[in-house]
Amino acid sequence: MSEHEYEKYTEKEEAVVEGVDISGIWNRMYEPRELTGYDLTFMDKVTETPGAESMGWCYQCAQCVGVCPVDHVGSYGPRKLFRKLQTGMNLFENDDLWLCTTCMNCLRVCPKEVDMMKIMPAVREQVVLNGSLPGEIQEMLQNVSEYGNPMGESPRKRPRWTKGLENPPRDLSKEDGSDPVEVLWYVSDYFSYHQRGQDAAKALTRVLNRLGLDFGILGSQEKCDGDSQRLVGETGLFEELAQHNDEQFQKYEHDTLVVTDPHAYNAFKNHYPKITGNEYKLAHYTQYLRGRLGELKPLLTESYTKKLTFHDPCYLGRHNGEYLAPRELIEAVPGAEFIEMYRCREQSYCCGGGGGGMWLDGVTADHTQERLSENRVKEAIEIGAEVLVVCCPYEVSRFEDAVKSTDNEGKLEVLDIAEILDLCMGGE
Ligand code: SF4
Ligand code: SF4
Repeated sequence: MSEHEYEKYTEKEEAVVEGVDISGIWNRMYEPRELTGYDLTFMDKVTETPGAESMGWCYQCAQCVGVCPVDHVGSYGPRKLFRKLQTGMNLFENDDLWLCTTCMNCLRVCPKEVDMMKIMPAVREQVVLNGSLPGEIQEMLQNVSEYGNPMGESPRKRPRWTKGLENPPRDLSKEDGSDPVEVLWYVSDYFSYHQRGQDAAKALTRVLNRLGLDFGILGSQEKCDGDSQRLVGETGLFEELAQHNDEQFQKYEHDTLVVTDPHAYNAFKNHYPKITGNEYKLAHYTQYLRGRLGELKPLLTESYTKKLTFHDPCYLGRHNGEYLAPRELIEAVPGAEFIEMYRCREQSYCCGGGGGGMWLDGVTADHTQERLSENRVKEAIEIGAEVLVVCCPYEVSRFEDAVKSTDNEGKLEVLDIAEILDLCMGGE
């Protein structure tokens, strides 16, 4: 840091302005402090990284900090990052690089369009290329690269959740592709492999069956959508996954590509077309079911008399503007009372799982007083909700863990919308 010479000033011995004598110390002007005296090596390195240029546009208005979910449980936000970079921090080797969940709340309010959704992947990509990334992320990327899912499970086990179902979805990987399917369902990793995700996948299967739909899955040919891998900077792996999944989508003629994961929705809608040149007739499952509410409502014969609240997934809400579809489904639940949390819709809080956060709990814990998911379940309990309703495969497990770690077991249930609809249709 350079030495500042705060004593430097100029003053006029005689100065009269509009008849008022301000001679002497009254007109003293200090020289500006030399901010450029700091070492700007890493600030320059960031702003010269393609995609991360907007980091340099910040003018320190602080709009972003108040809405940053990480700042609610620690100290973070683009303004703080900018200031740290300005005073010499090496973001390429600092944990701050991994705390952003790319929730997009800062971009929503930033007058200068400082875009963390571009800055973070761009800077992380440089770190990934050098191989100096957190161990948790390294392991996850290795698993996705080798097995096509972050858990490191066998691809053959991907459709195993369908075993024992009375009417399982068609496994298109076992067909020759000559028979079109109405709904091609991209199930996603957590619905395929995680036990609580599988519960929701089974519930959605029963709901789709009751609607009399023809639907199929890619089975062992489905691979991770890659959006979170893109956001942690693994662009090459993302491109490989996009090519692979797109080949499967092209192989099986279908009417609508329905996804259960908002991250997959974001990837297929906003990023795959740039790589594959193909557009998809895409719907998140809440959007698809909302389109069939007329047929769905008469099937909801059982009451569910609980107080429900809803957590907007960042990648369905802020990133893709869908706030209504899940709410319309929740409002159709007979007997339920729906209450909003304080932070909802475009101002929704974040579960902490996006942008790689799903695999960064260890790094984040060193810099925050509590997990973002813990902060969120406390809010749901505070407003008197009995059930926290979700529609993203990352969230059931994250929030259920948070209910336990905050000693709130028995006070709040976490259920996917599909599970509630299934219950109201007389499901398990
Ligand atoms: S809102 Fe934008 S310009 Fe304002 S401090 Fe945050 S990043 Fe900087
Ligand atoms: S994207 Fe979200 S987590 Fe990242 S800095 Fe902005 S508000 Fe904070």
